[in-house]
Amino acid sequence: MPDPDTLTGPQLEGWHCALCGRRLLADQFLGSVEWTCGSSTREVELWVCRPLCGEGSDSA
Ligand SMILES: [Zn+2]
Repeated sequence: MPDPDTLTGPQLEGWHCALCGRRLLADQFLGSVEWTCGSSTREVELWVCRPLCGEGSDSA
């Protein structure tokens, strides 16, 4: 899972891919991570490209 400290605001909000940073048109849920910001920890849901980026683009 990506480190939320390295992600941008739009990535944490689910607007941009958590892996490649592109704006999401079609997305899929990657998972949720705990993100500590200052003294508070919140759980953020990460979304990634569909089809998944960076895994080769061979489709069935
Ligand atoms: Zn992506």
